Amino acid sequence: MNDIRDVIIIGSGPAGLTAAIYTARANMSPLVIEGEPSSTSDQPGGQLMLTTEVENYPGFPEGIMGPELMMNFRAQASRFGAEFITNKVTRVDFGQHPFTIEVGDTSYSTRSVIVSTGAQSLMLGLPNEDRLIGHGVSTCATCDGFFFKDQEIAVVGGGDSAVEEATFLTRFASKVYLVHRRDELRASKIMRDRAFNNPKIEILWNNEVVEVHGEEKLSGVILENTVTKERASLPVTGLFIAIGHQPNTSLFAGQLDLKSNGYLVTKPNSSETQVPGVFACGDVQDDYYRQAITAAGSGCMAAIDAERWLEETGE
Ligand code: NAP
Repeated sequence: MNDIRDVIIIGSGPAGLTAAIYTARANMSPLVIEGEPSSTSDQPGGQLMLTTEVENYPGFPEGIMGPELMMNFRAQASRFGAEFITNKVTRVDFGQHPFTIEVGDTSYSTRSVIVSTGAQSLMLGLPNEDRLIGHGVSTCATCDGFFFKDQEIAVVGGGDSAVEEATFLTRFASKVYLVHRRDELRASKIMRDRAFNNPKIEILWNNEVVEVHGEEKLSGVILENTVTKERASLPVTGLFIAIGHQPNTSLFAGQLDLKSNGYLVTKPNSSETQVPGVFACGDVQDDYYRQAITAAGSGCMAAIDAERWLEETGE
């Protein structure tokens, strides 16, 4: 067992690294357990490591590559003394204070914890799909829509996210195909009507994307009709996957309150979980905004909440 730390931060996307910068500058000597490089759910740097250019992060008028932005966050946290472990947490115990965090055989003890394990977009699981993320395949219309001006693109999914993204993307694209596996949208009526009334959206009912093509960039997809099993090629330059998100909360089941969709519960306008001393920030507790800038903002909140909590409780 190591010495008791003031704060351990689990996860190293924009939320966790912002919490690291703030807690390091507050002399809390944060230890960041940043994740495992080979993993798509726990990779250090979070979801921005899977993007190319980020044009909506304030402060970078020319844009910045996602991985470079996260390396800058990390360097800034290191500069103030944050320590990093490049591995993933295997178990937590929030039932006793100080809390215990295990990374394989090593156990860490800490007075406070900031959970920033993020979320991952659900993917179709097709060959080429991951490789072409940032090169035509995207999971974020707000982030990448701008790159598809006057192009024909497809959105996969039939829920509110898919319809919202398809509608948003008509601002840029010349045509948006909404590819849905059934003959009825799951999306709410108001969203459905928006899609039906948008002349740029064509819904391809009863269709699934079964192949993703492209070398350097996406060149098109193959669709399969779920009823007739007929296959057709759709030569789109953009493919937005909007079939839902999964928060990375399996580690906390039974220890922290989860919403019915698996996201962590935090108190309104706060990063506090129901366990005093455990705070959560970023996408792991945000099923609504899901932006790097909002994650970073909530990471700052968590750092301030943890610092004040340690001070108030005399920890
Ligand atoms: P969702 O409601 O779970 O919808 C996922 C959609 O993707 C469904 O239509 C599903 O098809 C389809 N899908 C799932 N796996 C698939 C696969 N492997 N291949 C093809 N299609 C697949 O997820 P969401 O749209 O992200 O919404 C999540 C929650 O956020 C919902 O409660 C939603 O109401 C809410 N939300 C609200 C707003 C808003 O109000 N503005 C915006 C976005 C999200 P099936 O329908 O056949 O299952």
